[in-house]
Amino acid sequence: MKYHEVIVVGAGLAGLRAAVETATEFDTAILTQVPPVRSHSGAAQGGVNAPMGNNPAGKEDSVEKHTYDTVKGSDFLADQDAAELMISEATPCIYEMEHWGCPFSRTPEGKIAQRPFGGAGFPRTCYAADKTGLYMLHTLWERSVALNVKTYEERFVTDLVVEDGKCVGVIALNMVTGDFEPYMAEAVIFGTGGPGQVYGRSTNALISTGSGNFIAYKRGVPLKDMEFIQFHPTSLFGTNILMTEGARGEGGYLVNNKGERFMSKYAPTVMELGPRDIVSRSIQTEINEGRGFEGGYVHLDLRHLGREKILDRLPGIRDIAMNFAGVDPIDQPIPIQPGQHYAMGGISTDKNGLTNISGFYAAGECACVSVHGSNRLGGNSLLDTVVFGKLSGKHVKQWMKTKTDRKKGESTIMKTMEDQEKVREELLGRNGSENHAAIREEMRETMILKVGIFRSGEMMQEALKKILDLKERYKNIRVMNKGRKYNLDYLRALELDGMLELAHVITIGAIERRESRGSHSRLDYKTRDDVNFLKHTIATYTPSGPKISYSPVTITKYQPVERKY
Ligand SMILES: Cc1cc2nc3c(=O)[nH]c(=O)nc-3n(C[C@H](O)[C@H](O)[C@H](O)COP(=O)(O)OP(=O)(O)OC[C@H]3O[C@@H](n4cnc5c(N)ncnc54)[C@H](O)[C@@H]3O)c2cc1C
Repeated sequence: MKYHEVIVVGAGLAGLRAAVETATEFDTAILTQVPPVRSHSGAAQGGVNAPMGNNPAGKEDSVEKHTYDTVKGSDFLADQDAAELMISEATPCIYEMEHWGCPFSRTPEGKIAQRPFGGAGFPRTCYAADKTGLYMLHTLWERSVALNVKTYEERFVTDLVVEDGKCVGVIALNMVTGDFEPYMAEAVIFGTGGPGQVYGRSTNALISTGSGNFIAYKRGVPLKDMEFIQFHPTSLFGTNILMTEGARGEGGYLVNNKGERFMSKYAPTVMELGPRDIVSRSIQTEINEGRGFEGGYVHLDLRHLGREKILDRLPGIRDIAMNFAGVDPIDQPIPIQPGQHYAMGGISTDKNGLTNISGFYAAGECACVSVHGSNRLGGNSLLDTVVFGKLSGKHVKQWMKTKTDRKKGESTIMKTMEDQEKVREELLGRNGSENHAAIREEMRETMILKVGIFRSGEMMQEALKKILDLKERYKNIRVMNKGRKYNLDYLRALELDGMLELAHVITIGAIERRESRGSHSRLDYKTRDDVNFLKHTIATYTPSGPKISYSPVTITKYQPVERKY
């Protein structure tokens, strides 16, 4: 059995940042489904927030102002102490990344450049052209190599091992050999990313299935605020590849089929730089009311920015628009529609990333601390990954120094591994008539159409019925490939089990929340209801479906007020 003092699952920004922290003192290994630099964080384009005030228009910025924007953006559902903590760590974390070699774009005088982003009072989004996530990911990956972090690639973690309330390791499927492998550890940190693929029209990678959320949930860790799903305003029509908010930050316009900059009706003060929930709803309203273009899109117009600025600040966006939509943004507007983008909810943790299981932590998009509440601001997710990756790692280091019992749980780990073998045998042994890929597509379509930007009790009850039906049909699937080596047919079928469960959690949480708040916009309950719903949704696993309860929101300085932009 392999043993490492700390095991990190996931090599995106959160996982790598956590590993880089613990590896300074403890033997640390990463298990990851894909090679680190293929992690989804590499797709992040626009940038990462910090109240540095490097842009002359942002020199009045401060931790307090950034915190307020975050809390207001969250529609007052973020825990204010957690948001303030994240933002007070932001500038040091960005400098750390810079010192480790991250090639941020620069101001003329050589400081880290900052661009405006939605819902932000000041230009505070640090960027590296429009490939910020990729550069940050490479920087942290190099750092992890320098610190001798051992990386096991193409390992799909299928279970967490818990003994007497303590996490003692994980079980991973070696995707290449098809063998299950046992790993023992003193602490485990999940940085397994979001569940975007539960939805159709997602900007997320195919590997963003929320497998980490499901594993934790099934092991008794609650999922928090899962009904809050972010729809990004500008994904490319047809493929839903992201067109970064940085495009609007650099001055891009949103235009309907009448040639109007329609945001003047919805957010007159900030126009295209409203928070994402409001801009997405505005676009969808234009489309629904017949002011979109045929097929269901509006235009993102960058032409007035000029060739030079587009080539300098948004080269990746231009490439994507040319290659996937056949339009050159220098001469033509880009067809866009809202797409599923981010999960505000996730594995419930405290401010150190710690869950309700001793020794088990989560950070990044898979976790919910909560700092984003019901709507995340652009640029705050990359910040969340590096800050809470670091803080989880720090807490593990302190805790390890006081931990007296070591190398526990061998028999439980072996037993859990045998159970995983049985799960595979059972799954491969099913010879039903259902195709799991078809079930996946039906789930994704149901979620985007019925638990999407606009929802109602009636639509969500239909979605729930469908999900329960899909769960039944899942029992009758047939995995065609019965082999062991690199069996993606089996892996996709296995992931679907968890995705259906997450779809169930999202839908039940959304049905029960009878109000509109942030990204959760109900046609039958159109206003925010602080009296009854200023609280976090907590979903706990039971074999018959999620059990919903609620926990209080931490309010420190900012009393909830109506959000206006
Ligand atoms: C196109 C796009 C652009 C974005 N741009 C921005 C931006 O400009 N600014 C911003 O703040 N945010 C942005 N976001 C959001 C942000 O990029 C993500 O929320 C963030 O990068 C997630 O990082 P992570 O480390 O939590 O997870 P990921 O980067 O998704 O990494 C997850 C890791 O977990 C591993 N993994 C998952 N499950 C398993 C398993 N069962 N076993 C083993 N390994 C597993 C994967 O291999 C991967 O290494 C963007 C998102 C998208 C989709």
